[in-house]
Amino acid sequence: TAKREGRNCFHYFTNSMQETANTRMRLANDLRHAVKNGELLVHYQPIIDLSTGYIQKAEALVRWQHPKSGIINPDKFIPIAEETGLIVEIGDWIFHQAATQVKYCRATYNSNFQISINKSPFQFKVDSSRCHSWFEHLKKLGLPGESIVVEITESSMMEATNNIYDYLLKLRDNGMQVALDDFGTGYSSLAYLKKFDIDYIKIDKSFVQSLSSDSDDLTLCEAMVVMAHKLNLRVIAEGIETWDQFELLKSIECDFGQGYLFSKPIPANELNQLFAENTAFIPLKKSVGE
Ligand code: C2E
Ligand code: MG
Ligand code: MG
Ligand code: MG
Repeated sequence: TAKREGRNCFHYFTNSMQETANTRMRLANDLRHAVKNGELLVHYQPIIDLSTGYIQKAEALVRWQHPKSGIINPDKFIPIAEETGLIVEIGDWIFHQAATQVKYCRATYNSNFQISINKSPFQFKVDSSRCHSWFEHLKKLGLPGESIVVEITESSMMEATNNIYDYLLKLRDNGMQVALDDFGTGYSSLAYLKKFDIDYIKIDKSFVQSLSSDSDDLTLCEAMVVMAHKLNLRVIAEGIETWDQFELLKSIECDFGQGYLFSKPIPANELNQLFAENTAFIPLKKSVGE
């Protein structure tokens, strides 16, 4: 009977593997038309200057409004876009969206405003030959390179060292800035901070979310901020959900923050609305007994 169970398990396993493969194949096919059909959306999550409470930057986060399946998050389809090579077209499209939005916000609300875009390791190689066209596009719009920040994850640094070195050099030669995303979660090597010119580290939300309950995480965050500042880097904390987390990060002089406390990633028109209201996010004084 052990043999029979084993065989059933095997069948079950292959069936579900088959299903997963089918789903991926379907998504890969659908994704081919997604850009053309206008199904991709870029949402923007505001990044707040923690000392003033005002919006200084935003992170561009892509979503796919699938006609049948609803909203699909990037974790699900970016890997498929990479496998199929569609990431090149999608990456260019996201860049153009972000450039249009950053131009509008700089002209209308905040002349230092920046938008950051995420890049996966697969993109480093292709982008090296494409980023020239982005610089041209920025020039055409009258935007300086520094209006765009490129986010790369710490762990992706390890995967493509040669490509990434040239890539980052090109970006920085043209004034763009670079942020090290999900800092603290990869096989961190502090040597990367020395070897690559970087402008920001982004403290991963896993450190931020246990800040008030875990004093070790506060110590780690503080150490990251002190180290970054000594290296002349600025720090962005991600995943801020409570006023407590906000105040603790402010107290250790973390420069910037983003998270659901301030805003979820939102469509461009809602970001403009937030800007137009011009309200600062400032910790509210807690009333006695709260
Ligand atoms: P990431 O760059 O680390 O982005 C931060 C993620 O945290 C986003 O998830 C965001 O919605 C989420 N987040 C923000 N604030 C909070 C909060 O307060 N609490 C919690 N629990 N989550 C928060 P999202 O949009 O699903 O993106 C997931 C990942 O997909 C991103 O992680 C990034 O690595 C990748 N990604 C997103 N857009 C793109 C893109 O245009 N290109 C590439 N290559 N990757 C992208
Ligand atoms: Mg990011
Ligand atoms: Mg991150
Ligand atoms: Mg992430």
